[in-house]
Amino acid sequence: MDRRDYTRFTKRLESLNSPHTRIETVGVVDDYPCHRVSLEDGLGVKKNILIAGGIHGDEPAGPASVLRFLERDNAHLLQRFKFLILPCINPYGYVHNTRENKRDVDLNRLFGETGIAEVDLVKKTIEGQRFDFCIDFHEDWEAEGVYLYEAQRNKRWIGPEITRQIEKIGRIDGEAGENDLPIADGVLQVDPAWGDAGLVSYLFHFNADHVMICETPTSWPLDQRTAAHLTALDAALEALT
Ligand SMILES: [Zn+2]
Repeated sequence: MDRRDYTRFTKRLESLNSPHTRIETVGVVDDYPCHRVSLEDGLGVKKNILIAGGIHGDEPAGPASVLRFLERDNAHLLQRFKFLILPCINPYGYVHNTRENKRDVDLNRLFGETGIAEVDLVKKTIEGQRFDFCIDFHEDWEAEGVYLYEAQRNKRWIGPEITRQIEKIGRIDGEAGENDLPIADGVLQVDPAWGDAGLVSYLFHFNADHVMICETPTSWPLDQRTAAHLTALDAALEALT
């Protein structure tokens, strides 16, 4: 396929027009700037939420969902939440439509290591932070519907509430493989065997007690995938309060 336009993506990010939105470049990898966005009103104590997209470059629904989230009006959420957003963790993969980065490695398996530029930037960005909830947007080429991975300590599973909301815009993929740890239809437990190798499992180890991966089917139109991701986010925030 043609190259995806990361310059256009960053221009849209940088043109976000909200007094509560701050966009920073945290580093440059292979000539592509990596960004962090904070969205908060700065008033009082809020639940701290991390949103991530684009760690797999061939899953554009993540970055698209982040943009759609940032371009809508979130004023009602800022009374209760503040957000740290990693819009596109793997820009090279985004441009070239590859799961891996330029060095042909899957970033989402390498959080236990150091010296991988994109991973080091994420770690630096989240270092020392505690999040009440983290969500990472993905796509699955083989899935027939949406499904979630969730991990939590001392809270409760919110996945089943979220899939009930997503069902309004598309089906849930309730299939579970023999190595999966199902909690409910379309809700799988983040496997403790992943250690701290993936972004979400790393976050669960070091920065959060409640994390989620949202997987949308690539066969759906992009608009429907982004709607599913934002429905998952909104339903999760609703469940957290
Ligand atoms: Zn993925």
